[in-house]
Amino acid sequence: MVAQCADDLVVLRPEGMYCPPGDFFIDPWRPVERAVITHAHSDHARSGHRRYLAAAPAALVLKARLGGISLDTLAYGEPVTINGVTVSLHPAGHVLGSAQVRIAHGGQVWVASGDYKAGPGFAAEDATCEAFEPLRCDTFISESTFGLPVYRWKPQSAIAADINAWWAANAAAGRASVLMAYSFGKAQRILAMVDAGIGPIVCHGATENLNAAYRASGVALPATRMVSDGLDRADLRRALVLAPPSVQGSTWLKRFGDYADAFASGWMQLRGARRRNAVDRGFVLSDHADWPGLMRAIAATDAARVIVTHGQVPVMVRWLQAQGLEAQAFETEFAGETGAEAPDTAEPAKPAAADAAPIDETGVSPA
Ligand SMILES: [Zn+2]
Ligand SMILES: [Zn+2]
Repeated sequence: MVAQCADDLVVLRPEGMYCPPGDFFIDPWRPVERAVITHAHSDHARSGHRRYLAAAPAALVLKARLGGISLDTLAYGEPVTINGVTVSLHPAGHVLGSAQVRIAHGGQVWVASGDYKAGPGFAAEDATCEAFEPLRCDTFISESTFGLPVYRWKPQSAIAADINAWWAANAAAGRASVLMAYSFGKAQRILAMVDAGIGPIVCHGATENLNAAYRASGVALPATRMVSDGLDRADLRRALVLAPPSVQGSTWLKRFGDYADAFASGWMQLRGARRRNAVDRGFVLSDHADWPGLMRAIAATDAARVIVTHGQVPVMVRWLQAQGLEAQAFETEFAGETGAEAPDTAEPAKPAAADAAPIDETGVSPA
């Protein structure tokens, strides 16, 4: 472990990650005066701060989740000076409006990634947000949700083909296809991926709220309907139904009769995760970087020092140290460890230890 230095641009405080010269926090978990928010998932964007700063494309989803907050926004790449510190926000490729926080002061550059995904060549796959922008820096603060070599995602096009084939087969058999996914981020990415010609798409109210924020932000999504729109039985039998994981076992699902169900999450890569969630199919689809993505992003920063947050922290720290980097950990309260995550964003059941190396988070962080 590397000790914190007096001129570190980000340190850990009880409230969260803090920039001492700039006097602001990044994704703090306790109420603070000034919070820079990387993205609107509820473990990163909490209520109760006096002032919020986020990337402009995040504005409507943040307000959909947190209501009337005091929010300032920056275009991606637009610098602002906070107490003599230059701050800019850059695409993280995670969800709509997600940002890496670049901090420049006293000849040093630090980047706090927030949650991110970074595919081969940093190419844009997810049509609902801007692709990850690699940034050079001296110190990079990286998440590590899927920081084990076992996690390797297929190209999005292959996952889309799998989902379309599953949906089409169910529709042909007269069965609704219930696909459980986070209502914010994952659901909209799926909407933008699937072949809307296969049948009608029905969304749960929690999902539809976020769909509205995405559409109002200028993201093109196919037409969606809600159960309350009065769909007939024949429509329901051909439908793709997108709903948050919390609907499992609820009466809300009864209307779909004899349906097929599936879960879309990075955790579905783990043997046993699908069974524990008691679904027919698991689609391995994550909005976090896989192992090659984490390594690709870290290498592109050219940083000599890396600070690892929530996820597979010890594994990543050891690996990076073995590569000759200065690596250390920040003990953050991301990933819903406080239990504050709303039910509509609940993760699938936590993978058992037998599936992989221990996962030291609740799995509530959107995958
Ligand atoms: Zn997130
Ligand atoms: Zn996170």
